[in-house]
Amino acid sequence: MTELKQKMSEMRREFHQIAEPGWLEFQTTFKIIQYLESLGYEVEFGKKIHSERMGLPSEETIKKYVDSLSLDTDYDPGEILQGYTGVVAILDTKREGPTTGIRLDIDANAIEETHDKEHRPNKENFRSKNSFAMHACGHDGHITIGLTLAKWLMNNKAKLKGKFKLIFQPAEEGVRGAKSMVYAGVVDHVDYLLGGHIGLGTKSGVLGLGTRDFLATSKIDVKFKGVSSHAGASPELGKNALLAAASCALNLHTLTQFGSGMARVNVGVLKAGTAKNIVPSQARMEIETRGSNEELNQMLMSKVNNVIKGSAKTFDVEYEIMQAGGAPAYDSHDDEFINLVYEYLKDEFKIKLAPSLGGSEDVTYMMNRVEENGGKSIHFIFGSDLKAAHHNNKFDFDEDTLPMAFKALKQTIKLLNK
Ligand SMILES: [Zn+2]
Ligand SMILES: [Zn+2]
Repeated sequence: MTELKQKMSEMRREFHQIAEPGWLEFQTTFKIIQYLESLGYEVEFGKKIHSERMGLPSEETIKKYVDSLSLDTDYDPGEILQGYTGVVAILDTKREGPTTGIRLDIDANAIEETHDKEHRPNKENFRSKNSFAMHACGHDGHITIGLTLAKWLMNNKAKLKGKFKLIFQPAEEGVRGAKSMVYAGVVDHVDYLLGGHIGLGTKSGVLGLGTRDFLATSKIDVKFKGVSSHAGASPELGKNALLAAASCALNLHTLTQFGSGMARVNVGVLKAGTAKNIVPSQARMEIETRGSNEELNQMLMSKVNNVIKGSAKTFDVEYEIMQAGGAPAYDSHDDEFINLVYEYLKDEFKIKLAPSLGGSEDVTYMMNRVEENGGKSIHFIFGSDLKAAHHNNKFDFDEDTLPMAFKALKQTIKLLNK
């Protein structure tokens, strides 16, 4: 094993053990800050790097988690503990040149890691210590790639020009965190934005370059509120929220027929009712839509709104729709720029050009904003043989991916810094 791989694996395993879901990345954020400061970085965190946050956990959930931690920091952690998680680190070489942003997502998934003895984190003793969270998407690897790059940048400061901005973004799962940072101006002066993700169907040793087909998506939570009553004696006095939600779910799944592109809808959660003999007064749904472009996703969302409204009307219940997340599509594929990077990297890496994401990722908020401001962006897939699919409780990636991803970003930076 190379020294680099060993160091990166060790770091990844430390972050794996403190897996925390979106907006609750407290220990993760502290650890990132601590490392960056030890390298001599100027760091920004808390409210300064955020605007309105989508899909925030309840105050109760945040408080419960804060209370369970024994934190020891030498600065005021106040805003971080209110869910303003994530970190931005800036390196200014003081020489004229472009500002390069590198975006890394840091959150885990809200699932419990498997107890299967064959699962490597169990075998090699780095299982998540948080029963409610697991790094099942590889973001522990992304943090490690970012911090390793941070170290390289600092060590090579004298040879570099311009500014570097390492953006450790919270709450990517459920596409919530990027918008908050973008609207706080985090990428406003970035000329080049680099993003990337481990795995995603690309094999170990292969570097996906210039990822395309990022779908637009919206995530919403819906509540139906009716009136409960005795199911035997006086059902007519009840207003049935469960039926409204059930009818709504079936009708939503009929909406995705569009001639102009691909669209999807999914009712992922439906919870309703309290007991067999009571007409249910409450129902809650979690819904997502996706579309191959922004316009399609918007059209679909307006139909979704109509169905929710119509279902509420049919069953005479009240409803409430809350936005829980969202990300735009990314379809401004810049072939010229991608080819430039390709030409520079092609001798050193086995490259898959323009791989399809076929999903959603809120890095698109950042990529779009940088391009709107006249900058350029590129997204990589760091190929990795996976033990189970993303978001599965047996997910694990090939740690050889870590040094490859670091090198790919480092080389791209060298090119952009020429
Ligand atoms: Zn994920
Ligand atoms: Zn992910």
